[in-house]
Amino acid sequence: MKKIFVSSVLLTAALLPGVSQAEGATVSNNLVTGKPTEIRKGATTAYPLVAKIGSSQQVSVQDTFINSSGEVWYRITAGKYTGWSLANHFPVITNGFTLGKPATISESIVNVRKGASTSYAIVAKLSKGQQVSILDSFRTSSGELWYRIKTGNSIGWVLSSLVTVNDGSTFTPVAAAKPATNIAGLPTVGSYYTITAASLDARKGAASSYAIVAKVTKGQKYKVIGQFLHKNGEGWIRIQINSKLSGWIPVLKAAEVKPPANIPGLPTIGSSYTIPVASLDARKGASTSYAIVAKVTKGKSFKVISQHMSPTGDGWVRIQISATLAGWIPIPKAAEEKPPANIPGLPTLGSSYSIAATTLNVRKGASTNYAIVTKVTKGQSFNVIGQYMSPTGDGWVRIQVSSSLAGWIMVKQGTVSTPAPSTTMTVFTRNAVLYSNAGFSGTTVIERIPYLSKVSLFSDTKTVSGVTWVKIKTAAGNTGWTPNYEVASSQANLTHVYALKNAAVRKSATTSAALVVTLAENQQILVLNEYNGWLNVETGAGKRGWVLKTQTSPYTTKRLFSPETYISNNDVYLRWQKPSTLNLAYSTPAANQLKIYGGLSDVEIPSFAVKGIKSIQKVAANTTEKAVLITFQPGYSFTIRNYNNNITIKVVQSGLAGKRIILDPGHGGKDPGAIGPTGLREKVVVLDTALILKAELERAGAIVTMTRSTDVFLELAERTAISNSSDGDAFISLHTDAFNEKTNGTTSFYNTTVNFNGLASKELANAIQKNLIVSLGTYNRGVKEEAFYVNRMNELPSILVEMAFISNPSEEALLKTTAFRQKAAIGIKNGLQEYFNK
Ligand SMILES: [Zn+2]
Repeated sequence: MKKIFVSSVLLTAALLPGVSQAEGATVSNNLVTGKPTEIRKGATTAYPLVAKIGSSQQVSVQDTFINSSGEVWYRITAGKYTGWSLANHFPVITNGFTLGKPATISESIVNVRKGASTSYAIVAKLSKGQQVSILDSFRTSSGELWYRIKTGNSIGWVLSSLVTVNDGSTFTPVAAAKPATNIAGLPTVGSYYTITAASLDARKGAASSYAIVAKVTKGQKYKVIGQFLHKNGEGWIRIQINSKLSGWIPVLKAAEVKPPANIPGLPTIGSSYTIPVASLDARKGASTSYAIVAKVTKGKSFKVISQHMSPTGDGWVRIQISATLAGWIPIPKAAEEKPPANIPGLPTLGSSYSIAATTLNVRKGASTNYAIVTKVTKGQSFNVIGQYMSPTGDGWVRIQVSSSLAGWIMVKQGTVSTPAPSTTMTVFTRNAVLYSNAGFSGTTVIERIPYLSKVSLFSDTKTVSGVTWVKIKTAAGNTGWTPNYEVASSQANLTHVYALKNAAVRKSATTSAALVVTLAENQQILVLNEYNGWLNVETGAGKRGWVLKTQTSPYTTKRLFSPETYISNNDVYLRWQKPSTLNLAYSTPAANQLKIYGGLSDVEIPSFAVKGIKSIQKVAANTTEKAVLITFQPGYSFTIRNYNNNITIKVVQSGLAGKRIILDPGHGGKDPGAIGPTGLREKVVVLDTALILKAELERAGAIVTMTRSTDVFLELAERTAISNSSDGDAFISLHTDAFNEKTNGTTSFYNTTVNFNGLASKELANAIQKNLIVSLGTYNRGVKEEAFYVNRMNELPSILVEMAFISNPSEEALLKTTAFRQKAAIGIKNGLQEYFNK
């Protein structure tokens, strides 16, 4: 019996996680029951029944409590009974105001807060016209009337002037609007309070669980604008720190004013106690060793004036027997407190429970939110001294681990509360915290989640004050809530920005907030959240704070990242990822160098070596931008490709051998190209020349791809598609020119306006033109910039060669000969050789 009593007291602690301390300020006075109502020992239906009272009974309310499943319970006194009842059993307050009364939000945006003051955290935002139901009301010490409302799943407080009661009734709270009465023992509202402690944290609310808004120090003087006295006697005052900021500081310790707290399980002081047994001795003291002062009999009621609980768990109360006589009577536990029925499905009280799991956490309370007090292992057996079934079906038992230690273990996992976590995420932030609930206030810290640790994500999300929270299970096995920006499925999903020079990270999103750290130019910072033009950021060193968005620059548009090297088709590649918006270009500052630039603010320099590359350096492109400078080892060069999301450098050895060449004989099929005076068709000349060139190149060790090797028609886009989808090093389109009979000569064209490889194309054109002229002996018309489709839309170093004028009779005659075609092939091959020997 004794054990049972102890466990029922401890159950109170097990249910605490949902409690919102500051909400205890709200107490209504007299309520009338709507229907027959149960009174229980604690604020959940898991507690033993104290009594049942009928409908329309008047009760007085001493306290309110929100249990861990969100139910509001009132601690009430109804006649001789005291205990807890579900608040929604009391639809009517004695002045006629109905609980749960429908009302409408009457302003455009209304904040719903955790408590009845603007200093409380916002739990929801409502807009005009939204329907709510009013659950309760509270008049603050400054005279404001607040309604406690429910909307959807949110319960909180709104200023009454922002809500219209649908039936048009006006409502004055149960505690009639009184002028603010100062709480005895606390500095009065309106007075000035001088800080006596060396340093004190001013907080958002009147409890140390609230966020710190400022620090105040000894000797500073502030106006008192609010008071709050906790039921344990802890006193807080709200002070005006500056014109914009106020906060709560503690001024009275709980112990200093603590009234004798009511002992749970005993009739409360001030209540009326009815003798439940035939006869009881009232004694001078709270033990049978004291003298009897009177006898009291069954059915008689007496006022309780004191309580005592002996170390062995025997409860006594002191009752006022008459105007002049008081005495102590024992509270017969058996009569008043039936042993709590065993909860079906859980190990029975008093039984021995053997641990089946390899290892099990023993916790302070019956929830994974509680601290672990010890671990027990498979095969160990313990006496069951308490049971608890959570609203979601988690079954817990309290076990006696040793003579001095007891704790809770989970023995049955509910199905509702723990859906299988779906996704594994990584904590990429350095200050991640696991909270018992979604929201920074009114919630407890369960764990600091280690950087880069893995967590399992449940599907539950909640949005509180603009922050989306996710339910997770950490590697340590704790389940709770954290803002969604603390976790990501991969690093690629993180948002970074660059700092501008001297960008200031501040404690909060205002320029008057204290400085956390000053950032270096282009310092990379992780963005957690955005609010009102400010970014909530974390630096690589783990400093957190707020920076003005205007003091940052976008990250993803300016960086070469994730460098890698790989081998494909026997060629060595170096590749960087890049954002598609980046407009890159390159130059060759020296014969053995490649410089990539174009709007870069950063380049991730690889930590690995690449065969054929001597060095990779991040250098200045200009005063504001960066570039990457690649210096090749002697005998090595490159072919570069600018893809949408990466830039790829093929590191190649000098020489024609091993190079991949795409040859494009112009025209073909239905398109004869230009036709000479005697009827020679361009498509025939260029195909034959290309086939000769192919053989020459292959003899030199090159690998040749033909866009066409027969008399077929190809669209221009088909020709560039063959080139662009290849891993080629050069593209050459062969043509013969046409104008009039007199015009003659050889020309090589290239494009730099669109083709990323314009620079290489021009070099290629120069090399081939020079060698063609030597080989053919034709008139040198030079190299020319032109926007031919096959060059413009080509991504490789690409040229178009007009070998000679088919419209010129003497050049047409040359073009007819195999000798001329062979000379052209040799000239182009020599040009390629020169180009690849660079
Ligand atoms: Zn042509």
